Amino acid sequence: MPAFKKILIANRGEIALRILRACQAMGIRTVAVHSTVDRNLKHVGMADESVCIGPAPAADSYLNVPAIIAAMEVTDAEAVHPGYGFLAENADFAERIEESGFTFIGPKAETIRLMGDKVSAINAMQKAGVPCVPGSNGPLDDDDRRTQRLADEIGYPVLIKAAAGGGGRGMRVVHNPFDLIKSIQLTRQEAKAGFGDDTVYMEKYLQNPRHVEIQVLSDSHGNAVHLGERDCSMQRRHQKVIEEAPAPGITPEQREKIGTICTEACKRIGYRGAGTFEFLFENGEFYFIEMNTRIQVEHPVTEMITGVDLIRAQILVAAGEPLPFSQDDIRFTGHAIECRINAEDPEKFLPQPGTIDAFHAPGGPGVRVDSHIYDGYTVPPNYDSMIGKLICHGETRDDAMARMRVALNEMVLTGVKTNIPLHLDLLDDSGFKQGGTNIHYLEKLLGRSSA
Ligand code: ADP
Repeated sequence: MPAFKKILIANRGEIALRILRACQAMGIRTVAVHSTVDRNLKHVGMADESVCIGPAPAADSYLNVPAIIAAMEVTDAEAVHPGYGFLAENADFAERIEESGFTFIGPKAETIRLMGDKVSAINAMQKAGVPCVPGSNGPLDDDDRRTQRLADEIGYPVLIKAAAGGGGRGMRVVHNPFDLIKSIQLTRQEAKAGFGDDTVYMEKYLQNPRHVEIQVLSDSHGNAVHLGERDCSMQRRHQKVIEEAPAPGITPEQREKIGTICTEACKRIGYRGAGTFEFLFENGEFYFIEMNTRIQVEHPVTEMITGVDLIRAQILVAAGEPLPFSQDDIRFTGHAIECRINAEDPEKFLPQPGTIDAFHAPGGPGVRVDSHIYDGYTVPPNYDSMIGKLICHGETRDDAMARMRVALNEMVLTGVKTNIPLHLDLLDDSGFKQGGTNIHYLEKLLGRSSA
């Protein structure tokens, strides 16, 4: 008996296809929902059923909760997989799904809500023994003198962050006491306008951290495992460009220690499903910044080094099954790197929607392509510019990089500009080759090369 008879996939693009593949392999029927411009998505053609849920703007389609629930009703789907982005971390959506008698493939709505507010997330994590960035440990009030004292204690530079912030927005670095109160006011105004919530908090601004995150999986029977870490320090404008696992230089002891802290925290908050603890890593210490309560874009690098199918595991635990493995069963083998392939100008980074004339995917041992594109597919201008992910595995980091170089050169993708030339340059960059660069490295490199 499959975990569910039928799953609705409330997403688009490569992740919708990834979820569909997992469902098909598990013998689960699928429903694709799509906007009017997305009729020709690959997974829509492959799904057992498809429903158009609205026009191109995401607000009218992929974020249209009544339309999605109606699609579940008419197709008799039992569960919904939200993928990442769109409604994946929307607690109200998860709640509405459960109230309507369906299963949300993810954590409980209350967990999503707890982690969606960064202040409550940090408080919960501190209680659970997870190391956090030194900071205000709560919202800032309008007692300016107390705020000034707090910033002095933490030490400049400090970072003012919106509790409801996301996607790298709603943050401001403050370098000296004179700018503090003004910066808080500005961040509050932006947070109010952008997220409808002007709650802000303060953290020490770490100057040269790496972004290292821990993948966890928990079930509803009190079991939790970690699947090691990913290094996502190669970022531009807080957007990840290349990810890898394991993180260069992290020892098995460090991995075990921080991984166990995360699994214990999962048990403590009653976490269910796949999740990611995001940390900044500086001078050998981990500092929690936020938890993502969903599958992540970069999940394949973890799958490649552990052999675990994370989407399948998400579906199993959502159906109430216990995790099919324990921590001792998790083995880390080799190294994996993921390059996000975007339809964008490789120099100006502007999105390049348009029609793909020809696409040939690379292949061979250790090469994985997660992409929904095909010859003649038109990339619409309405959504994210990511059109696929190329993931390469090898025995060592150097082996994975060598395979990535071959695969990037082998990939034929014409009709739209892509960032493949950027990836090829990065693979030849001495800092990246060495590994362990910090979150500012890529932007500095790009700044130098454009100067
Ligand atoms: P978002 O939800 O917007 O992604 P995060 O809290 O994950 O917000 O932070 C996004 C990015 O901002 C991080 O990956 C890191 O580059 C930077 N950042 C966040 N907090 C700090 C900090 N305390 N010190 C330095 N950089 C930070």
